[in-house]
Amino acid sequence: MSSIIKTENLRKKYLLEGIYIEALKGITLNIHKGEMVALMGPSGSGKSTLLHILGGIDIPTEGKVFIMEQDIFSLSEKKLARFRNVNIGFVFQFHYLLPEFTALENVMIPIQIYNKKGAREKAENILIRLGLKDRLNHKPSQMSGGEQQRVAIARAVVNNPSVLLADEPTGNLDTANTQTVMELLKELNRKNNVTMVIATHDREVAEYCDRIIFLRDGVLQA
Ligand code: ADP
Ligand code: MG
Repeated sequence: MSSIIKTENLRKKYLLEGIYIEALKGITLNIHKGEMVALMGPSGSGKSTLLHILGGIDIPTEGKVFIMEQDIFSLSEKKLARFRNVNIGFVFQFHYLLPEFTALENVMIPIQIYNKKGAREKAENILIRLGLKDRLNHKPSQMSGGEQQRVAIARAVVNNPSVLLADEPTGNLDTANTQTVMELLKELNRKNNVTMVIATHDREVAEYCDRIIFLRDGVLQA
């Protein structure tokens, strides 16, 4: 199997009030194309830090990240932004939808950045596929938490990314909405072959995944 996400000895230090906190202490990992991986570990173990670095939205203090064999931190800022937009989708615990925009407009944003053609149709198609046909013109405040998170997933996958990184995507959802969201992610993983890394505290969420990676104090547990 070919590897799509690879890290070499990733370290991340934060300087907080004159004291260094080492959030990641040498992470080397390999994720294969099409894998759906759960990232588990106690609060503060480095899950968000690792996801942010894998997605190129935070930079490591040391070490390398290869996504599809591209050393992402060797790219210029502009090229990295473009690489991210094309290849990586991100879902956060708090959906971060733009409150003034409808579901459809929120999903159209990432397509319009580089390619205006067919944005509306693409955005509509993915929202309909995620069961939101009747919510296209609703603003976030007019939707339930589960619906908002599905819109955030639509936004993350509308460009057909090869990699989807999700940081506690069901952390705010009840059991029924958690199951809906996980079934959608599983379907995108299986049908579109999207490689996924999903940080979660929830065993039930991890059970949808092919493999579990455990982090503790910034170190991977075997
Ligand atoms: P998790 O997502 O597993 O809860 P995080 O990656 O958020 O863990 O945090 C790992 C460690 O790094 C924690 O000790 C946290 O306090 C610290 N940390 C995270 N972000 C920052 C930051 N921006 N500045 C300083 N310390 C941070
Ligand atoms: Mg976190």
